[in-house]
Amino acid sequence: MSTTGIALLGATGSIGETAQRVVARHPDRFRFTAMTAHGNREALAAAVARWQPSLVGLVNGGRAAPLPAGWCAGRECLVQAATQPEAAIVLNAVVGAAGLEATLAAVGAGKRVALANKESLVVGGALVQRAARASGGEVIPVDSEHSALLQCLAGRVGGTGPGLLPVAGVRRFIITASGGPFRTWEAERIRAARLEDALKHPTWSMGRKITVDSASLANKALEVIEAHVLFGVPYDRIEVVVHPQSIVHSMVEFEDGSVIAQMGVPSMELPVLYALGYPDRVEDTGVPRFDPVATSPLTFESVRHDAFPTLGLGIAAGMKGGAAPAVFNAANEAAVARFLEGSLTFSGIAAAIELALGRLADRSGNDLDALLAADAAARSLVQEYRAP
Ligand code: NAD
Ligand code: MG
Repeated sequence: MSTTGIALLGATGSIGETAQRVVARHPDRFRFTAMTAHGNREALAAAVARWQPSLVGLVNGGRAAPLPAGWCAGRECLVQAATQPEAAIVLNAVVGAAGLEATLAAVGAGKRVALANKESLVVGGALVQRAARASGGEVIPVDSEHSALLQCLAGRVGGTGPGLLPVAGVRRFIITASGGPFRTWEAERIRAARLEDALKHPTWSMGRKITVDSASLANKALEVIEAHVLFGVPYDRIEVVVHPQSIVHSMVEFEDGSVIAQMGVPSMELPVLYALGYPDRVEDTGVPRFDPVATSPLTFESVRHDAFPTLGLGIAAGMKGGAAPAVFNAANEAAVARFLEGSLTFSGIAAAIELALGRLADRSGNDLDALLAADAAARSLVQEYRAP
């Protein structure tokens, strides 16, 4: 059997490293044909030495030293990797709206996109869908909740409904959220939370941006929009429930009232492997086995919307449509970057997003240029934002 070529965008990140661990166990099935990173050339060079991809891209190589022979530089290398003929699968593990162009290019080239970069679908869901319809490309989610939904829906996806993976017969999606490090904190204490508190995620080890998003629940807002774009299920049928153990990764309620949940230990290796092998399951023993007794009890709680205003802001932006989801995403990215560098408080993230949505949510999002303009406008508003 010949191996399937994978272009790995964001090879040096948390998901990029997870993907390397998974593929290392299945050299008979998969190989990396392209790898990209943003600025960490040492980590990229180490991955390249190990996997010998034929295309290597460093988006921001700096000017200090020339790049190794054959490496490409600049944002264009993402699109080059995403459309590389040798790659059948593009695993997009870039963080932020910076991944959108590559997702569009890969889908447009007829590839399978194994998508960790949820921001692609939040910002440009309609464009990705249009590109997929025109070219036969497909998007298979890597995000654990959406992988769970897809697994619950097994065999029912397809047809002509709305969404990238249209599905019928669903009454409700129940998306789980760990609740993050501030799940039990009083609202007042959350508002003044420090960076080191926000970076202490109770159940997942991830990149810094998504870790802060998990603390504010912005991540869950992005995921609700992602679920809507992927499966075409209306927003009023998508619910979020807090599940601190991160064992149930999401649930689907069907029209007859039955509910199917997908469970497993919290490891991104499982959804990465599922997205690469879909619709098949690849035999694998790399992840610790699920032990129902050791993981019990499994508990569920309502979301405290008053303490986590970002979730409601994001869902409202998704429902509004047009450029609003792109504005929400860009404002969040810019605000989180400021929180990470220490120039914005934790409560400032929601406040800055609210300001940007208030000014920009009515913009149209008909094409990529309009979306990128809304994205840029939101970033500059948040950059200039000063807390009252
Ligand atoms: P990370 O910060 O650990 O890694 C990001 C990767 O993208 C790095 O390789 C970096 O070099 C590259 N990158 C960053 N900015 C870039 C840019 N402007 N252009 C090109 N490349 C760039 O992030 P992560 O935690 O691996 O998350 C990656 C994506 O996967 C995010 O969209 C995140 O929401 C999603 N995701 C992550 C997890 C997780 O467990 N880490 C789970 C679900 C979804
Ligand atoms: Mg997730």
